[in-house]
Amino acid sequence: MDESIHNISPLCDPFDRDHLWHPYTSTETPLPTYKVDHAKGAVITLSDGTELIDGMSSWWCVIHGYSHPVLIEAAKLQIDKMSHVMFGGLTHQPAVDLGKLLLKILPPSMNYIFYADSGSVATEVAMKMAVQACDDPKKTNFATIRSGYHGDTWNAMSVCDPVTGMHGAFGPALPVRFFAPSPKCGFYDEWDPADFEPMRKIIEENRDSLAGVILEPIVQGAGGMRFYHPQYLVELRKVCDENNVILIFDEIATGFGRTGRLFAWEHAGVEPDIMLIGKSITGGFMTFSAVATNRDIARRISESQSGVMMHGPTFMGNPLACAVAIASTRLLLNSEWQKRIGEIESIMRDRLSVASSWKSVKEVRVLGGIGVIEMKENVDTAEFQKHCIEEGVWIRPFGKNAYIMPPYMAITDRQLNKLCDALLNIIEKMYGR
Ligand SMILES: *Cc1c(COP(=O)(O)O)cnc(C)c1O
Repeated sequence: MDESIHNISPLCDPFDRDHLWHPYTSTETPLPTYKVDHAKGAVITLSDGTELIDGMSSWWCVIHGYSHPVLIEAAKLQIDKMSHVMFGGLTHQPAVDLGKLLLKILPPSMNYIFYADSGSVATEVAMKMAVQACDDPKKTNFATIRSGYHGDTWNAMSVCDPVTGMHGAFGPALPVRFFAPSPKCGFYDEWDPADFEPMRKIIEENRDSLAGVILEPIVQGAGGMRFYHPQYLVELRKVCDENNVILIFDEIATGFGRTGRLFAWEHAGVEPDIMLIGKSITGGFMTFSAVATNRDIARRISESQSGVMMHGPTFMGNPLACAVAIASTRLLLNSEWQKRIGEIESIMRDRLSVASSWKSVKEVRVLGGIGVIEMKENVDTAEFQKHCIEEGVWIRPFGKNAYIMPPYMAITDRQLNKLCDALLNIIEKMYGR
């Protein structure tokens, strides 16, 4: 790696480098960090005035762009009333209003909502729900597919891809789950029934020990940036029903329009028993998540040994987060989000597809507001990001994937074209055509 990358540039804060952890970094050879002064719309402005067009939506969540006046107003109004109050034994209007709004847009069978603090916590809550609903000391395990990502807490780690999921270090400390291969049939491919067979086998052979199956519907995000065939979910629903296994969809990344549908389950038309949302639920304003479930699961938990759902975080149902989530969701629903995401999808497809014939590139794929260039080799993140700063964009590659998932409700066509140009330029500069 280029050593100069680790020198202190005016954009790297020496205190930050010497004392603060960043995601997945080493304290000895930290990746450089760039200091942000402010962000507005689709533009992140660094402390020296450098402007970067945002290609990441700060990891899927900032769908309306940064500093959106409607979200700021909602937060200010709520702050003047109360920013927080405990949810144990108390409730408040923002929690009620958000619940009503979510039940209108979630799968029709969803009837109960558990507000949690982050995506990883939502995963924990969903897995606990499934185990409690089974209420059988033998039925406590989970199956999933490879290349998945469900968060960084303990149980969430156990269902992430064991190789690309960043958690190899924990090996035997984690509960051992059943992993089916990641679906091979792409979203746009013709369905091949063989694709589902390994998962069918796992479920049928382990039905007595499985509480649930958890997976990201249609788009596997951080674990591989893969788009798979909707029929996989249709088959999965059937086999889960036949074998009395609870089906959990993690829509933390795919929710609120990212895949071109409001939620990704709609591509397949099959409903889960438990569904997780997070990330863009507050438009990326602050951390928040929710776990939705149907009457049957809720009743089974209530009739279980403990009689109650055994989870209750301090900041559960935080009023400030609820108020902003309401504002963000209304803003989205009142916009022409579907049309806009369709336009963004076609711009990305037009612009990025040239790279599919490059010798360094394995595949180019686009769905909704997600554009992925999968390389044949791992991408050097530090060097890539140095080029990003020069090109005036913000993209953070992971593993073999260089991808963009821009703030679709904020980015202009001109900005998106510049983002695509920069992505192609950087790949060409680093790896040739
Ligand atoms: C990001 C993500 C999570 C974890 O959410 P955090 O808020 O980072 O804890 C879980 N599942 C999926 C699909 C995600 O993309």
